[in-house]
Amino acid sequence: MRRYLHMNPEPSFKEFKTAEYIRKFYEGKDVEWLRYPVGHNGIAVKIKGGSHKPGQKRKTLAIRGDFDALAIKEETDAEYKSKNPEAMHACGHDAHTAILLEAADALIQVREELPGDVVIIHQYAEEVPPGGAMAMIEGGALDGADAIVGGHVWVSQKTNSVAALSGMAMAGRTYFKAIITGRGGHGSQPHKCVDPIVAASHFVVAAQSIIGRNLDPADSAVITFGRFDGPGQFNVIPNSVTLEGDVRSCSESASLLIEKRFKEMLAGISTAYGCSFELVYEHDYPPVNNDTGLAAFAAEFINGNSIPELNLCQGEMTMGSEDFSYYQQKIPGLYVFFGARPAGEFYPHHHPKFDIDENCLVTCAKFYAGFAADFLEKYDKEKL
Ligand code: MN
Repeated sequence: MRRYLHMNPEPSFKEFKTAEYIRKFYEGKDVEWLRYPVGHNGIAVKIKGGSHKPGQKRKTLAIRGDFDALAIKEETDAEYKSKNPEAMHACGHDAHTAILLEAADALIQVREELPGDVVIIHQYAEEVPPGGAMAMIEGGALDGADAIVGGHVWVSQKTNSVAALSGMAMAGRTYFKAIITGRGGHGSQPHKCVDPIVAASHFVVAAQSIIGRNLDPADSAVITFGRFDGPGQFNVIPNSVTLEGDVRSCSESASLLIEKRFKEMLAGISTAYGCSFELVYEHDYPPVNNDTGLAAFAAEFINGNSIPELNLCQGEMTMGSEDFSYYQQKIPGLYVFFGARPAGEFYPHHHPKFDIDENCLVTCAKFYAGFAADFLEKYDKEKL
């Protein structure tokens, strides 16, 4: 399944064949309901459990996996290389889908032994804001779910290890665009112009001091300018400069602080240099903040050794972002990292030569299915 999906990737919001492939997988299977499309293109499936013990509080666990690819041309020599020159599963969402389908299949087979219910969420468009999570939640994907678990294959982590971080696991993300406008003209006559390149340069340098001088050192954030564009020629002072970039932060307050300081700095610098400015600052995905009870329960489950090849590892927080955080704003959630490091040389996520160690796939499916069974059986509902 992973190889089929890898060979047939579709970018975010265009994953129609992939969604159809997932839907077909459930045809003829013993599920309570399948909803499709949820939001733009998502699929939600409810697996009805058997009876729970008297006095046991019945629960529903949601398990979420994403299925979109990236608009990247694959450069590996794999036999299962992408057949679509405009897309590649360079983040492992093909693996997420295969893992989730395998786990769902196992849970369907033992459903009558489960003392609660499971909702499987196949989400489209994780990679591109606004993402698929919000619309899937609005479309009812979480209805009745008490908690949610999800995970990401992670090539920097050893295969068959799982990191279940407690609290902050991934950063929040903000897109920004600033346009600084001066007055263009001939390079030989700067006194008759207002040079926006000089003003914008001061802003780029000043912005980095927000991290060092304004942000609480115990908090953290990253500001990256990915575009500095003053279109023109070598001897022309442009009329305006467009800056675009990305803020990653471990708290929403950090992102708000950066927004406030951006406005103050742009206002001050524009005044000083005689320019004007516009700022667009869009909070995209909030930080992924794991429920401490669920993280502890996952650690206990892994250490309980019911999956002997699976190890708990410490893992580390990443400044990457995920729209899994929207589910966590509704119900307690846990987002884990699945070790998937290939042997020998390997490439980072979103690289055209990215690949995973497929040996992780079955272990990860076992983790989801086993965690779900254990959660429905043992987790104290009061802790949610
Ligand atoms: Mn991803």
